[in-house]
Amino acid sequence: EQNYAHQPEFIQAVKEVAMTIEKVYADNPKFETLQVFERLCEPDRIISFRVNWENDKGEIQVNRGWRVQFSNAIGPYKGGIRFHPTVTEGTLKFLGFEQIFKNALTGLPMGGAKGGSDFDPKGKSEAEIRRFCYAFMRELHKNVGKDMDVPAGDIGVGGREVNYMFAMYKNLTREFEGVLTGKGVGHGGSLIRTEATGYGLVYFLDNMLKVNNETLEGKTVLVSGAGNVAQYAAEKCLHLGGKVITFSDSKGTLVDKDGFTAEKIDWVKNHKANGKALADYVSEFGGEWLEGQKPWQFDADVALPCATQNEVSEDDAHALVKHGVKYVAEGANMPLTAEAIDVVREHGVAYAPGKAANAGGVAVSGLEMSQNSVRKYKSFEDLDLELQKIMKNIHESALEAGKKYGTTEGAIDYMTGANVAGFTQVANALVAYGYL
Ligand code: NDP
Repeated sequence: EQNYAHQPEFIQAVKEVAMTIEKVYADNPKFETLQVFERLCEPDRIISFRVNWENDKGEIQVNRGWRVQFSNAIGPYKGGIRFHPTVTEGTLKFLGFEQIFKNALTGLPMGGAKGGSDFDPKGKSEAEIRRFCYAFMRELHKNVGKDMDVPAGDIGVGGREVNYMFAMYKNLTREFEGVLTGKGVGHGGSLIRTEATGYGLVYFLDNMLKVNNETLEGKTVLVSGAGNVAQYAAEKCLHLGGKVITFSDSKGTLVDKDGFTAEKIDWVKNHKANGKALADYVSEFGGEWLEGQKPWQFDADVALPCATQNEVSEDDAHALVKHGVKYVAEGANMPLTAEAIDVVREHGVAYAPGKAANAGGVAVSGLEMSQNSVRKYKSFEDLDLELQKIMKNIHESALEAGKKYGTTEGAIDYMTGANVAGFTQVANALVAYGYL
């Protein structure tokens, strides 16, 4: 812990898993004697590189890029790429560590990794983003490949950026292969990948509700974020009869107590894609814009944090409880602080951690990899059914392991369940390999 005191998010993620998995050691003594968890806490390797690119004024810009290859115990390294000015090696280590267990939970053969850069896409022109993506892949291509490491998108990296990076990889290697997922449909991409994380999150939530013989019909939902995950989570809530009343972004919160209709959600998608302000919504549709505020201050049944890590503080968690929220499912990675998790769980809120609830995106990425391998593409409907099945299975694994190893008081312990189920699968592979 002392060695990584400068990487607090990484320590937070490791502690959460460490706290919950010790109980499986009694059933699996080799996990302890072979130091499986200790081995999993150190990435296999971290690749760090300089990215030079030229802005529209002809000036040379310099950024740092990383790829943290955490574990390929059960399949090629797999995980997103994040472009955001706050990105550090520590951020990517926390995300890569989480990804190991998330990918195992999908039941698909994928290891864990994460990458990114401190490049800020905000305010950059289309040409600058293209130049940066090319430059980033010019370095990264040496360390990725369809059977080695398969990156995807994350914050600041959507379909457009993946396409640019794929183009550079293809150009340098002369291989058209599934080296990145989230590519455009028609040139290697899979249908439903864009929707998968948000849709999958709501499928997971639907399974949580079923345990209590409830449905989303008529329930009020708070969503944070206004990006890829938030948009499609809101859309699927609407399909299942829920009423979403908030979105948010780094500037503040948008509230529409009448609920976001399909037309309004489409407006959010288009407006954000053009880099415009969420606050503009009010002049178009009404509602209220709360500058600098978070969306946890309204009466609701469900909260879906879909923006970024540690966005829900202890105080926010108290606000959620006070406003009647009974279900919290994480669309973002680690959006609740450790203290916030304690608060919601102590108050009997059903809490689903991101590594289980937001695994739909990487699951469809796994399906994109297999479609690329056989060069045959599936229909939206077939993939949607597969996604629903995968989310149901993840829910079941987390539920079963939660009942067996988790706390028995209050709501189901999905946190312990997800950690144990994901860890056990990877740990079994590491035991079989000896100490490599
Ligand atoms: P996007 O870049 O599409 O959207 C991110 C949203 O979160 C934006 O609305 C952004 O606001 C907001 N946001 C980002 N950083 C902050 C911050 N520091 N404070 C407040 N708001 C912030 O990203 P995604 O939707 O893809 O990702 C959101 C979360 O979901 C991340 O935690 C990501 O790791 C996780 N995730 C994503 C998956 C995917 O398939 N995309 C898969 C699994 C998890 P603004 O618009 O102002 O920048």
